[in-house]
Amino acid sequence: MTIKSLIRTIPHYPKPNIMFRDITSLLKDPIGLRITIDELVRRYADMEIDKVIGIEARGFIVGAPLAYALGKGFIPIRKKGKLPAKTIGYDYELEYGTDRIEIHADAISPGERVLLVDDLIATGGTAEAATKLIEKMGGKIVECCFVIDLPDIGGRKRLEKHGYSVFALCEFEGD
Ligand code: AMP
Repeated sequence: MTIKSLIRTIPHYPKPNIMFRDITSLLKDPIGLRITIDELVRRYADMEIDKVIGIEARGFIVGAPLAYALGKGFIPIRKKGKLPAKTIGYDYELEYGTDRIEIHADAISPGERVLLVDDLIATGGTAEAATKLIEKMGGKIVECCFVIDLPDIGGRKRLEKHGYSVFALCEFEGD
């Protein structure tokens, strides 16, 4: 059984011609959940990491158990208006319009080494915005980590162009 084989594809969701890669089928499988987190724990156990940062919402599902297993703290990056204390935000471009992500202003101390986690990288727009926020706070990004990479869309290359290391547990060709 592989991680990739447990990820279900929903064609034309949330709009026509999008192949939605759904990790809920992976997460509900007890072995699937375990091998996903264990593989990441193996990769990061010996790396110097202070905090794991997850991107709302599916980045929380993977990031929090990973942080727990590594014995590190977990920090959420959320959509605008969701975090209760003082925040720092970053606005980024979508296909139509803009969006904003936020992090608590006291979440990262300058110089801390962080691992950024989300379920999937497509265009890399969301992850790039997260890296800008983390850099703004003086955090050092050890790696950007995903369950799924869609290499044909180019997000990985986009992050690598900025000098970030990118890791994904599996890839789906096409979009
Ligand atoms: P992007 O900013 O284009 O890299 O998009 C990444 C975010 O959108 C991630 O948080 C994903 O959860 C979600 N996403 C984008 N494309 C897909 C897809 N084909 N299937 C599932 N989730 C997606």
